[in-house]
Amino acid sequence: MNREDFPLLWEGVYLDSGATSQKPLQVIERIDRYYRNENANVHRGVYELSAKATVLYEEARERVARFIGAVRDEIIFTRGTTESINMTAFSFAEPLMQPGDEILISHMEHHANIVPWQLLCERTGAVLKVIPIDRNGNLDRPALSALLTGRTRLLALTHISNVLGTVNPVKEIIAEAHEKGIPVLIDGAQAVGRTKVDVNDLDADFYAFSGHKMYGPTGIGILYGKKKHLEKMRPYQSGGDMILRVTFEKTTWNEIPHKFEAGTPNIAGTIGLAEAVRYLERIGMDEVEAAEDEVMSYALEKLGRIEGLEIIGSPDRRSGAITFTLGDAHPHDIAHELARKNIAVRAGHHCAQPLMNFYKVPAATRMSLGLYNGKEDIDKLADALPEIREKFKL
Ligand code: PMP
Repeated sequence: MNREDFPLLWEGVYLDSGATSQKPLQVIERIDRYYRNENANVHRGVYELSAKATVLYEEARERVARFIGAVRDEIIFTRGTTESINMTAFSFAEPLMQPGDEILISHMEHHANIVPWQLLCERTGAVLKVIPIDRNGNLDRPALSALLTGRTRLLALTHISNVLGTVNPVKEIIAEAHEKGIPVLIDGAQAVGRTKVDVNDLDADFYAFSGHKMYGPTGIGILYGKKKHLEKMRPYQSGGDMILRVTFEKTTWNEIPHKFEAGTPNIAGTIGLAEAVRYLERIGMDEVEAAEDEVMSYALEKLGRIEGLEIIGSPDRRSGAITFTLGDAHPHDIAHELARKNIAVRAGHHCAQPLMNFYKVPAATRMSLGLYNGKEDIDKLADALPEIREKFKL
């Protein structure tokens, strides 16, 4: 599907979209056009070029907002999911924390949704609590309920696991947390671009994601936050653009979202991201999701039949990724052998070491899907694996 839009896919099989997606020509050409014809700094100059760049930048914000069911003031441009989560930790959570208060995450989080909370706990004396998972890779719901306590100041949970592919029932979980007055941040790095996300319908307090995993450029990400939170939050970084008035005695802050966007932003990144959103909207997220579901079912069946191949986890609902081990073969050997056949997969701990420890595998191979993958890609992967298993038999 849509393969011809992606210049880098004209050769080889790309099964590493969980790490980053390839970019369609529409996005590449839009960035090129910006630098050729439209480049200027935003929110500053009065000349036409600068006014136009400002309009493009703010239009990108509007488009992203509409795409996820938010309004423009609730969209903060960041470097990526990692920065969005760090911003939430510093600007939202830290001022709330008293020693002994709790931050709740799950056992299937990416390091980006673990480490910022650990550092926050070190700074404040708060305690990091972890929702356990079962062997299938689903959250332990009774344990989750029990861990939402009067001391929980925030639940930070992934929407889709980058290793297991688990799609967490985040809407239900957010509702449960809200019954106890607990705000929720969702790590949507693997979700936006794979499934329709409506932050308003989910009622998420914060929703973090990255442009580069949804067919946009690297270096641009989003933190969605409810207005009522953003208005109260302290700035994250400081400098130009985020201020209203500066004197040596006192400085006041710009309105949201600008309060959180210090310095010259990644203007080209936002314009490229808006083009990626347009690209997804043209196909339709229902279609994107249905097409991936079909390839995913095919992949599960096909890989499931390979002798010696063990898929990690079997979640109730899966999207994006299948992570596996294969006989005695080391994941890095598997990835190298596949690379020789022009098939790109990822090997390692996938930035989720606690999760890998849970399954007692230090490393594994992951194939992950993008909207350009078809069944023929899965066939090529499945055809290559038995030979690799035999080659590395101990
Ligand atoms: N969370 C999840 C679930 C991810 O898959 C990733 C990227 N692998 C991140 C967070 C971090 O995203 P980024 O590197 O774009 O900041």
